[in-house]
Parts: sequence; structure tokens; C-alpha cells
Amino acid sequence: MKILVTGGAGFIASHIVDRFIQLEHDVVVVDNLSSGTKKFVNPKAVFYEVDIEDRGKINDIIKKEHPDVINHHAAQISVRHSVTDPVFDAKANIIGLLHILEVSKEIKVAKIIFASSGGVIYGDTDLIPTPETYQPLFPLSPYGISKLSSEKYLNYYYRNYQIPFVALRYANVYGPRQNPHGEAGVVAIFNLRIRKNLPPQINGDGKQTRDYVYVSDVVEANVSALTSSFAGFVNIGTGIETDVNALASGIQSIYGTNLPAEHKSPKEGEQHRSCLDRRLAKRVLKWEPKIDLQKGLSLTREYFMSYEEE
Ligand code: NAD
Repeated sequence: MKILVTGGAGFIASHIVDRFIQLEHDVVVVDNLSSGTKKFVNPKAVFYEVDIEDRGKINDIIKKEHPDVINHHAAQISVRHSVTDPVFDAKANIIGLLHILEVSKEIKVAKIIFASSGGVIYGDTDLIPTPETYQPLFPLSPYGISKLSSEKYLNYYYRNYQIPFVALRYANVYGPRQNPHGEAGVVAIFNLRIRKNLPPQINGDGKQTRDYVYVSDVVEANVSALTSSFAGFVNIGTGIETDVNALASGIQSIYGTNLPAEHKSPKEGEQHRSCLDRRLAKRVLKWEPKIDLQKGLSLTREYFMSYEEE
């Protein structure tokens, strides 16, 4: 199969590219390297350094490469940036997707796999773990709104132009290659600090919970989505809630340290709880997470022990 992966120089999609190549697919990567890096791009992939906001170039590349499937991971990923500049967010996350959908319609792409977000789409809910059927959906940030709008556009193109889609609503993904300098990616941020023997910094009381899913499990969800007949949106998480205090001490125990965490003032508007119901993924994608948090954190530590800061 020929698969075009957008955002393939980034954390999650560079692992997806590696796995697709291992499975002997032909892979084309489109990435503007705004947060991704060229060294993560598998040398067996054809690489275009292009912005998905550039409609002309995206049209030309997709028409020339004529992929069977588009795996769309390129995005502005910062919730905070989306709050300070919702227009920037919408240009990358909504207009960028529309450029891809319009040309996909023309060349009749067989499927689009989309990186959505379970955390931000549901926001704080009274139902944990949260199933896909949860209503009403009123995301708390422009980033969340752009992810939810993207799903609506995907559904529109599916209904009207018969382009099937799978929107994978990820929980909090962690693992090797995650950027430790971003605002999110708490596992990567803690790893870098603890490796330097600095205490983890926690916003507020640290009782806020997340559902941490290891990147190789997310990759396998993308592999299942390639061949599954399912179209629609599905949670990709573990169904297990972990609070930030427990996460920090779990990472510390792997490093053999026990530094008292520094508690900072709580972040305004920060979500309290997030945890995804994964039963639908088991049914429609035959997907279940295989790497538990302890194992995933050890694998992540191995990566960060040899991580070199630029
Ligand atoms: P990342 O920043 O490492 O990857 C995003 C990639 O997209 C980068 O390589 C970046 O250079 C590229 N990119 C950004 N804007 C672009 C543009 N306009 N044109 C072309 N390329 C562009 O982040 P990630 O964590 O790997 O996230 C990948 C996808 O998964 C994103 O869509 C993100 O919203 C989604 N997601 C991530 C998580 C998570 O926990 N990391 C959770 C839910 C959803």
C-alpha cells in the first residue's frame, strides 16, 4: 500500500512511518519541520518539507504520489498556543485538513486516518472512563474545537464523497522522541529534569489525572486502522487514570531518585480528569494496549538517558 503520512517528522507519526515501512508499505512523509525533526524521518520514506497550509503544493504532491491512504498527524499541537492564537490553530488544523480532503476527493483516496484527541474533545466529564458516545461535546480550547471540527469534516466527506475515515481519539501519548521542551508531554519533561537530578515541577496539587498510552500501542492502532472496515471515531487509551503525583514518583523510582516535587500554582482552566473507555477499540480495531505504564516509563527512560539537548 502507498501511505502518505503528514507530520511524519514528529513524535508519534515518525514511529508510525517506521512501522509502516517495516510492514513493507511505501511511505511518503509531508512535514514542515515546525516541531518535528528531519532526523526522525525514516530514510526509506520519500520526504517533502512542505506546509499543509500551502494548498498548491499539497495538491501537487498528493496528485503526484497518489497514495492509497492518508495518515494525517500534522498539526499545531499546543493547547496554550491555540488559546493565544486561535487563527493560527485553525489555519493549520482545520484549513490544512481541508486542503487534504479536497484533493483526496479528487483522486479518490481509499481511507484517511486522523490523529484526534480524546483528552481535549471530552474535556472534564462526569463519566470516567469516557466513552465515544459521551455528550454534549464542548471542548474547552480552540485546539479541542479544531480536533472536533476535523472529525465533523471527515464525516462530511465520508457521507458525501465516500472517503472512509478513522479518527483515533488518543489519550496522553508518551514515549521516545517526545519533545521535552513543549508545554505538554509531561512524561518527557519529567524525564529530562529527573535525569539532571532536578525535582519534577507539578502544577497545583498534582491530583489531576490523565490516561497515559505508550507510543508503540498508538502505532499498532494506526496499523489496525489501515485494514479495518470500521469508519468513525474511536478512543485509543488504556482506561487507567494516573495522577501527576503518582506519575512523577513512578518515573523517579525508575531513576532511583526520590526528590520532593516542586508544586507550582495551578494552571488556570486545566482539565481535572481524563481517562478513555477503550472497549470500542477492542471491538472494531481488535486493539488493546500491550505496554503498561511501568514498562513504558522504563522504555522512555532508556531513550532519555541518551537524549542530547540541542
Ligand atoms: P509533534 O509536534 O511531534 O508532531 C506534529 C508534526 O506535524 C511535527 O513534525 C510538525 O513539524 C508537523 N507540522 C505541524 N504543523 C504543520 C503544518 N502546518 N504543515 C506540515 N507539518 C506540520 O506532535 P505529536 O505529539 O506527535 O502529535 C501528532 C498528532 O497527534 C497531532 O495531530 C496531535 O494533535 C495528535 N495528538 C497527540 C497527542 C499526544 O499526546 N502527543 C494526543 C492527542 C492527539
